Amino acid sequence: MPRKLVAAIDVGGTTVKAAVYETAGDRPELVTGSRTATELSGSPTESVANQVARLVGELTAEVGPVLAAGVVVPGIVDEHAGIARFSANLGWRDAPLRDMLRLRLPVPVAFGHDVTAGGLAEYRIGAAQGCTSAAFVPVGTGIAAALVLDGVPYRAGGLAGEFGHIDIGHGLTCGCGATGCLEAIASASALGRRYAERTGRPAEGSLPVVEAAATGDPDAEEVLGDALAGLAQGIRILASLLAPEVVVLGGGLFSADSLLDRVRVLVEEKLPFQRKPELRVAALGDEAGCLGAALLAADLLAGT
Ligand SMILES: [Zn+2]
Repeated sequence: MPRKLVAAIDVGGTTVKAAVYETAGDRPELVTGSRTATELSGSPTESVANQVARLVGELTAEVGPVLAAGVVVPGIVDEHAGIARFSANLGWRDAPLRDMLRLRLPVPVAFGHDVTAGGLAEYRIGAAQGCTSAAFVPVGTGIAAALVLDGVPYRAGGLAGEFGHIDIGHGLTCGCGATGCLEAIASASALGRRYAERTGRPAEGSLPVVEAAATGDPDAEEVLGDALAGLAQGIRILASLLAPEVVVLGGGLFSADSLLDRVRVLVEEKLPFQRKPELRVAALGDEAGCLGAALLAADLLAGT
């Protein structure tokens, strides 16, 4: 089978993951990859577009030419228009990033949203493989959801999937300015922040809180319990509204099955007649975005 290489770039707020995949088979196979700090000097869009072009140049110098590139970015992304609408971390607004990338790269460019691309990868080759409808919920610094409904990614011009900003009824203010958002008690950063506020002991992200809860620390257990209950409430809303067969949970919080089991109990106890979604741990880890970008590039080549 001839080699069918594509470049895949996952631009994050702090790190850019770049890789080349062989896409001749059903599942992209990693050929080579790199991680570098996101470069943000001057215009953030110019800076990121230049960095992506340079990284693709470096990778192809190493392994040979690629046929296409898939580039995914965070925030609100309108893939159809090729516009990066908004990213708080990267500081851009209504940026014509797809065109900027096409000007800089010598191959066709597929442009997309990081969480949606990760969800596409989990749906096609990961934890939600074989399903018709699924939600992919990575729990990280923020919380978003990628939705596949009846086999089709649901995007609404990049505005769908703001799962972290569902109002679950608490009184805390979210970074978005509203109160009650899921993200304000259940994101990895919220867990660390809430634990530090209660105890005066610093906690970076969710891991120290999970570890402290496992040793019986009551403050850690309460903060963690709030987060899991909030996630369960959000998932029940998804179940009632969209009835996904599967909800795939990602991020460090769900690297072990034990917390997933707790969320499952909380979800199922209040769904009297709705379809109870199967909860699964994400299969692709933090490679999901790059794998999704590779799938987008392969789709572009296939004309789908
Ligand atoms: Zn919010």
